Amino acid sequence: MFGRFPQLDGIQERRAASAARRFFRLARFHRFVTLIGSGVALIMLSLCMMALYEGRQEALQGARKTSQNLLLILQKDISRNVELYDLSLQAALEGSQRSDVMALPSSLQRAVLFDRSVQARYVGALLVLDAQGKVLIDSANPVPRKGNFSDREYFTIHRENPNVGLYLSGPFRSRLTHDHWIVVLSRRVSLPNGAFGGVALVAIGIDYFHDLLAGLDVGAHGVLLLVCEDGSVISRQPDHSNVVGRSMIGSVNFKRFQSAASGTFTGQDPTEGVRRLYSYARIPGVPVIAVVAPAEDDILENWRRRSIIIGGLMVVFSAVFVCVSSLLAHELRERARNQQKLIEQATQDRLTGVSNRHALDATLAREWRRAKRDGRTLGILFIDVDAFKSYNDHYGHAAGDKALAVVAQSITDCLRRPSDSIGRYGGEEFVVALPDTHAHGALEVAELIRDGVVRRGLAHAYHSHGSVTVSIGVALSDAPDVQSLAELIAKADRALYRAKAEGRNAVRAAA
Ligand code: GH3
Ligand code: MG
Ligand code: MG
Repeated sequence: MFGRFPQLDGIQERRAASAARRFFRLARFHRFVTLIGSGVALIMLSLCMMALYEGRQEALQGARKTSQNLLLILQKDISRNVELYDLSLQAALEGSQRSDVMALPSSLQRAVLFDRSVQARYVGALLVLDAQGKVLIDSANPVPRKGNFSDREYFTIHRENPNVGLYLSGPFRSRLTHDHWIVVLSRRVSLPNGAFGGVALVAIGIDYFHDLLAGLDVGAHGVLLLVCEDGSVISRQPDHSNVVGRSMIGSVNFKRFQSAASGTFTGQDPTEGVRRLYSYARIPGVPVIAVVAPAEDDILENWRRRSIIIGGLMVVFSAVFVCVSSLLAHELRERARNQQKLIEQATQDRLTGVSNRHALDATLAREWRRAKRDGRTLGILFIDVDAFKSYNDHYGHAAGDKALAVVAQSITDCLRRPSDSIGRYGGEEFVVALPDTHAHGALEVAELIRDGVVRRGLAHAYHSHGSVTVSIGVALSDAPDVQSLAELIAKADRALYRAKAEGRNAVRAAA
């Protein structure tokens, strides 16, 4: 009734196993592809953000350095000029105290008292005032101009304190030069007995400071500022004309300028609302604070433009990277599904859904080897549908196909252990492998299967039992006359033959 069970090819089986392993690796891997892709994109974005942030810090640091250099230029220029004016002042002061110089004719006296520096561009005049504040000597006029300056702060300060030394006033409007803004550099004239003898002073036009600041570039929205320690503004770039002489007392930023000899901070300009990077330092020798404050927007303008381009490109690249990895994941998922389908198609019987002959052969060979290796018993059930030819003849082949699927499902339902397996051997024949099962258990499962098929109640009017039934031959691998898988199958086949011969719808164990 049945052909020889073919010997299975071990190489083929190993190939199938490695294909299955590859498939499962692929199936697991595709889940991680999107995750890995997103992770890599996130790392790329983070690195880019870090580099951009570093660029921002560098831009600010560079601006700080530039501001320090500008401060240095301001300090040096103002200090040097103050020193030169002070030398002229001291020369005039000493000369004015010498009776022989004062006895000289006017033109000679002026030549002795004033060097060429009093003709410098920004010097208004060098005056020597007497103890009442009247002009004694005037560098700008051979006949001293009329005026009394005893009300000026620089005058009262020297009068009341003999130890002031060189004094720089805040900015004020000059009475002698048509209300021009000036600052005054002054020294006290002391009489031989130490009493107050007047004040020697140089008037410096505020234009000197304006021109000095105007020559320095601090960006479109930056500010340069020279402010006295008492809070009065000497010059500001831009808007110098509107702010000279105004007091900064009470301003938050001015409080910070006062807090240290020099420093840097980022703050908001209270009137313009512009954020600036303030660097400030005192001018040596005079009570003046120089401030260099480029606007943060100007400093970061190039950085921002670069960051928008690089950051934007990076976001696009990352998005593309994530999309590509998602597509790859989708592709791998599809491949995994297709491979799954192929594996199923290669190992499944399409009509009944159980293992096909090829997969059944592989399973039987594997279980046979395992049983021999472990010294366990493999039970085999050979199942054949009874009088199936007449079923086909009377109910048609389509109905026969359906009945075969019902029988296969009925057999499958009776297998409880995960190691039990069923395959279609051919036509209306099925083989069940029961690893690690002895005679009693195998017969019990066989009886369960036979009874299960009967219970399905598939009508078969042309069979003596009235419904579709199966006959089952049972054989066990531990029988002494079984030396090979082929012999085991053949033995189950013979037992089936007996079940058929003894009335069908029956289970018979091999002799
Ligand atoms: P027995 O009780 O002795 O087994 O009688 P039987 O008629 O079942 O035996 P036989 O081997 O003479 O007939 C088997 C029949 O099974 C032949 C064929 O019509 C039918 N058959 C085999 N494969 C299929 C199938 O895939 N579909 C259908 N519908 N019928 C099948
Ligand atoms: Mg048959
Ligand atoms: Mg049959």
